[in-house]
Amino acid sequence: MRLTIDMPLVAGCTIYACAYNVDDACHARAITIGDGVHPGCDTFLGDVRHTRDTSHSAGVGACKVTGCTHNDDYECTAPEIKVGHVGRDINCLTFSPR
Ligand code: SF4
Ligand code: SF4
Repeated sequence: MRLTIDMPLVAGCTIYACAYNVDDACHARAITIGDGVHPGCDTFLGDVRHTRDTSHSAGVGACKVTGCTHNDDYECTAPEIKVGHVGRDINCLTFSPR
């Protein structure tokens, strides 16, 4: 069964070391952001291999960062997000603290 769900688009990700990343885009079906405080990408998977299916771009399936202005009821309400490095961390770059 396939579900069609309206999700914020992951419009870009610079973390090439992640298995879901091909050409600066995330090709997971959906990602999860955050651990409640820190807006890290919980879906990151470090692997030298990369996903073969690049026919779709990822959406934000869930976000646990309630301290972000875009978060409502544990979901992201931004139209799109970008992911990349902040120091050594792999973060949602669209995070905006309340
Ligand atoms: S958004 Fe997360 S899961 Fe997707 S490619 Fe980037 S680090 Fe990997
Ligand atoms: S913009 Fe805010 S609410 Fe949306 S995924 Fe990033 S941290 Fe979560």
